Amino acid sequence: MIEESKLQVDISIRQSSDAYDVIVIGAGPAGMSAALCAGRAKLKTLLIDKSLPGGEASTAYIVDNFLGFPDGILGVDLASKMEDHLKRVDVEFVCTSVDSIQDSHAKIKQVHTNLGTVYKAVTIILAMGLEPKPLGTLFERQFMGRGVSYYAQGDASWYRGKNVAVVGGGNCACYAADYLSQYVDHLYLIHRSDGLKAVKTLKDRVLANPKIRPIWNSEVEDAFGVDRLEKIKVLNRSTGQYTWLDIKCLFVYVGRIPPKELLTLSIKVDEKGFILTDEYMRTTVPGIYAAGDIREKQIRQIATAVSDGMIAAVNAGRELE
Ligand SMILES: Cc1cc2nc3c(=O)[nH]c(=O)nc-3n(C[C@H](O)[C@H](O)[C@H](O)COP(=O)(O)OP(=O)(O)OC[C@H]3O[C@@H](n4cnc5c(N)ncnc54)[C@H](O)[C@@H]3O)c2cc1C
Repeated sequence: MIEESKLQVDISIRQSSDAYDVIVIGAGPAGMSAALCAGRAKLKTLLIDKSLPGGEASTAYIVDNFLGFPDGILGVDLASKMEDHLKRVDVEFVCTSVDSIQDSHAKIKQVHTNLGTVYKAVTIILAMGLEPKPLGTLFERQFMGRGVSYYAQGDASWYRGKNVAVVGGGNCACYAADYLSQYVDHLYLIHRSDGLKAVKTLKDRVLANPKIRPIWNSEVEDAFGVDRLEKIKVLNRSTGQYTWLDIKCLFVYVGRIPPKELLTLSIKVDEKGFILTDEYMRTTVPGIYAAGDIREKQIRQIATAVSDGMIAAVNAGRELE
C-alpha cells in the first residue's frame, strides 16, 4: 500500500466555477497515464480517486510483464514510479469518491463527489477499473472482515503461519495465492474446474509451489465459525463428496466486475457491464471516454491500461482543439 500520496492532495470542498479541460476518474495505471498525457499537453486536468493513486497495480505482488523492468518490480513500487512521473506535470489530484456525473450530454459536464463537491469539465475519462465479484453467499456476508477477504496484499500479514484458502482459478486468484504463500503455512486453492485459467508462467509457478494445494472441481458451500471464520465446507462436484477444511481466512478471487455507480449515464455497456468504446476510447456519450479495465476489451493488464489511458487523453485533447 502507498502510505502517503506524493501528489498534491486537495480534499477541500470547493465549487469550481471554471471547467477543467479533462477530468480523469480513477488513478490506477489507466487514469495516471491519461492524466500524464493530458498534463503534458497543457490541458487543465483534474485526477480524482477515492483512494491513493496506484489502483490495482499497487496490490500486485511482483509485476514481471511490464516492459522496462527485466527483473520484475513490486506492484507498489511500479505504482509509486507512475505517481512520481505524474508529479512532473501540472495535474491536480483530489482524493474523493465520484458519486455521479450530471449533464453528461451537455458541453460542460458535472462530476459530483461524495464530499458534495461539483467539478465541471468539457471531457471526462472514466478509468475506475473493476471491483471484486462476490461469491454471493450468505456465509460470505456473515464473515466479511472476520475471515473473508477480497484483498490478499492488505490482509496477508494477519495470516502469517496460518492455513488459508483462495477461491478462484484465474490470473487474480493465482496472483493472490502466489503472494499469500510467502506468509501462510498452507494454502488451499479451490477451483470449480480441473485446471487454472491463468497465464502459463503464473500457473506453472503456482502449481510448483509446495505450500499451495489445488482442490479441483470444487466449490465452497458453507462456512462455520463462532466469532470468526474457522472452517469451510467444500463440495467436490465430480464425486459429490463434502470436505471440511480448517482455515483462518477465505480469500475470494472469483472475478472482477465493473462498478455500477457511474453507469447511469446512458453510456452503452456490454451484457456484463463493461463500457463499450471505439479505438479512440470514445464511449457512446460525446466527450466521455473510458480507459483500462472498465472497458470491454480482451486483455486486462497494466500495459493495456496504460495504453488505453494515453489514447483516451490524446483524443480528448484533439476534441478540445
Ligand atoms: C492481485 C492482482 C495482481 C495483478 N498483477 C498484475 C501483474 O502482475 N501484471 C499486470 O499487467 N497486471 C496485473 N494485474 C491487473 C492490473 O492491476 C489491472 O489490469 C490494472 O491495474 C487496471 O488498471 P485501471 O487503471 O484500469 O484500473 P485500476 O488499477 O483498478 O484503478 C482504478 C482506480 O479507480 C478508482 N475508483 C474506482 N471507482 C471510483 C470512484 N467512484 N471515484 C473515484 N475513484 C474511483 C479506484 O480507487 C482505483 O484506484 C493484477 C491485478 C490484481 C487484482
